Amino acid sequence: MASEETFMRAPAPTPKRTIYTEAMEIFHFAADLIGLDKRVRLELEEPDYEHIFYVTAKLKDRLVPLLPEEAKAFSDLPVTQVRNPDGLERLANGNLILNGRALLGSDVAIRHGHLRLPDGHVYQLVPGESQRFKAYRVQHNQARGPYKGGLRYHREVSLDLFKALAAEMTWKTAIAEVPFGGGKGGIQLDPREYGREELEAITLRFMYRLKSLIGPNIDIPAPDVGTNPEIMALLYRQFSDGERERHNLRGIVTGKDVRIGGSEGRGKATGQGVAFCIEDYYADRGESVKGKTFVLQGFGNVGSHAAMILGNMGARLLAVNDADGTIFNGDGIDVNALAAYVADPKNLKRSVVGFPGAQRIEKKDLWDVQADILVPAALGGEITADVAERLKVKLIAEGANGPTTPEADRVLQKRGIELIPDIIANAGGVTVSYYEWIQNKRMERWSEAEVDQRLERAMKRNYRIIRDISRNQPRKTEMHDSRPYCIGKTVDSRCAAMILALKRIEAHYLLEGFSQ
Ligand code: NAD
Repeated sequence: MASEETFMRAPAPTPKRTIYTEAMEIFHFAADLIGLDKRVRLELEEPDYEHIFYVTAKLKDRLVPLLPEEAKAFSDLPVTQVRNPDGLERLANGNLILNGRALLGSDVAIRHGHLRLPDGHVYQLVPGESQRFKAYRVQHNQARGPYKGGLRYHREVSLDLFKALAAEMTWKTAIAEVPFGGGKGGIQLDPREYGREELEAITLRFMYRLKSLIGPNIDIPAPDVGTNPEIMALLYRQFSDGERERHNLRGIVTGKDVRIGGSEGRGKATGQGVAFCIEDYYADRGESVKGKTFVLQGFGNVGSHAAMILGNMGARLLAVNDADGTIFNGDGIDVNALAAYVADPKNLKRSVVGFPGAQRIEKKDLWDVQADILVPAALGGEITADVAERLKVKLIAEGANGPTTPEADRVLQKRGIELIPDIIANAGGVTVSYYEWIQNKRMERWSEAEVDQRLERAMKRNYRIIRDISRNQPRKTEMHDSRPYCIGKTVDSRCAAMILALKRIEAHYLLEGFSQ
């Protein structure tokens, strides 16, 4: 007979810490502080919908370069001349996509599935197979308007991550005072490993599956890490293909090219918003951005624009890193030259590494560079407690979503390093996405100056409310009114931002009630 112990219950597991539970710590903290309505809290604690689905695509044939030792066996293999070089597409990992037309009319010398190209390398011909990709769309909350949030193409994505990012969009749209809720999604893949036509096929198939879940008044995606205006154009085409009122559907995605209904100023909007916040931070202290130094993590859409705009305001970039490495120049990096270097088609990885105007340093040494400002503009969870202990900056303006862990937050507070939290600092993107959506709806076109002016006012107004909440300084000025949001005591800036979001969202539930 089994002993009593065999049947003893396993102890209740301690709740698992995940990216989502970590991201929600500040939500719970702020909700407790303001005594958020219990039912509103339940509504916000978990997403409305979590969609997981699969996308398949037929990949193209590839030429994979052999290592020098492997290539020795083919030393006498003659070179195959490529008559139509446009048919070959080189990927960041060194592989070549072989479009059928590349070798049309060429004398092809293939031995055991290998050929030598004019670059001297021997390549193995790998036939294209069909592949399946995991795709997500999390719709967190729509109390204030349609779900809104980016699409990420990245190898390291998960339901948990998208839940965290979708919730973040709910807070951000409330803070930015745009009439949207929060959503996020994407596909688990590294876009640098696929050819242009393959990414097109994957994207079209993605929208084919997504179409029944979203709409211009239901859920509106935008670019995020690994996606861009070209991907948005494909998504728009696929969504509106064959529809009778195609022109009315342009607002299905934002972040489009300006020539097809995108907004002026959207490309740079997130970086611009980061810069406006930093400018206002210093203006509040009677200082200016001019002469300040900064370090940057990530030189993609957000990082490169933030750097160029801060550079134009007179700040100096000392160090920057991306997925491939870190560069440093104590006299300041020429940001425009760096942007041109990264955008050069010959720079296959689109990396800052190798830029002649700076020296390469160890990737992790970015955190030791002494500067006034750090702008993290890459991925989440990068500023850990250890990193926070090392930093030699006075201000962090979070361009990325969730770059700082809760432990690191506590270290930053202890060390007196100031913070402009992500949900305000990078809200410029979704704010101009809203302008794009309105322009699409009204069939209007606003100038860049008009967009920038509105964005500046929106960013600074809401950032000032957050500062007032943080300092417990209720007041009404010509620009903003923080009286409804201050809570009678001072709080840190991340908590202040969350309080602003929760109070704005809660108002919808309390005034409109709950649909049954
Ligand atoms: P992007 O793909 O254009 O650029 C990402 C950059 O981060 C690249 O330079 C990449 O090399 C770098 N990177 C990736 N992994 C890294 C690593 N481990 N270490 C250092 N660098 C690394 O993406 P983006 O649109 O600029 O987005 C960057 C961040 O900003 C993300 O957190 C995103 O969610 C957030 N964000 C973007 C927008 C927007 O409008 N694009 C809006 C709000 C927030």
